[in-house]
Amino acid sequence: MTCAICGGSAGETWLEGIPDHEYALPFVTTLVRCAACNVVQQHPLPAPEDLSAFYPSDYHAYQYHDSPVADRLKTRYSQRVGRRIRALIPADGAILDLGCADGSFLAALEPLGDWELHGLDINPEIIRRPRSPRLELRAGQLGPDTYPRERFDAIVASHLVEHVCDPVELMRVCERILRPGGILIGELPNLASWDARLFGRYWGGLHQPRHLFFWDRASFLDLGRRGGFAAVRTFPLLQPAHWAISVQNLLLARFPRLRRFARRGRLPLYTAAVLAATPLCMLQNLAGAPSIMGFLFQKPPIQRALPRDPRPGRDRERPDPAGDREVNETS
Ligand SMILES: [Zn+2]
Repeated sequence: MTCAICGGSAGETWLEGIPDHEYALPFVTTLVRCAACNVVQQHPLPAPEDLSAFYPSDYHAYQYHDSPVADRLKTRYSQRVGRRIRALIPADGAILDLGCADGSFLAALEPLGDWELHGLDINPEIIRRPRSPRLELRAGQLGPDTYPRERFDAIVASHLVEHVCDPVELMRVCERILRPGGILIGELPNLASWDARLFGRYWGGLHQPRHLFFWDRASFLDLGRRGGFAAVRTFPLLQPAHWAISVQNLLLARFPRLRRFARRGRLPLYTAAVLAATPLCMLQNLAGAPSIMGFLFQKPPIQRALPRDPRPGRDRERPDPAGDREVNETS
């Protein structure tokens, strides 16, 4: 193998013969751990043009509006992320959500600031009906020239980095289109979580064939540095979804007939399993082995004699340079 992250050539098979537990698409994958950088990756990696075959039309992330209760919970979760962002960028800054779908996340941020709200999604159908007229949504994949250099104050990449063929290039492009002091924030599965260790080949975070890479905290911080970010940190998030999907994966493997009850990749027991797993998630977060890691990477601010932007207040709320610290805050 050649590691897509560090270029290393030595690695060992971590898991093989992994099917698509959730959607039963006809793919079987092998996952290999790089001996040099410790990142687990699909081997062989798919080509970018082959990725769309991994996403069925009923893929769960395309379905945002199941019920008013679920909608409200998602809005509250999005606004928690929004408040993290608000503490770090100007009140009139520009935010880009990568993998924005119909812009539900961005729409939830509208009450929190006078921000420019941009979204990019690979699926042209889903951006056709944006959640709010204030959003500027585009279809396509993020490349070096998709947006101008230093265009955004914050980029959100939640459950995205593990889906792309070249995560190092993704980091570099994000760093390029962020303004000095700008932040990249998101979340992803934690390879070193309790649930990953317990469920192994049935772990919900595997999400094969759609997840191409898996990191633990140290290897993901390393990815941020490879992308040019000076200040990198992760934090635990309370998110029991992988526990529920793991239980579901085990049940579907043991009792394949249950699949006829699945809707959008989820069995009816899913919500109950999420609730039941919440106390376990709290415990694993306290133990420093969360199911889902949040991450916050910051581009170094440039010290200037004069403000870069003539608009008053533009530079007022810039955070101090965070240096090279790595904090594992509790959230
Ligand atoms: Zn490597």
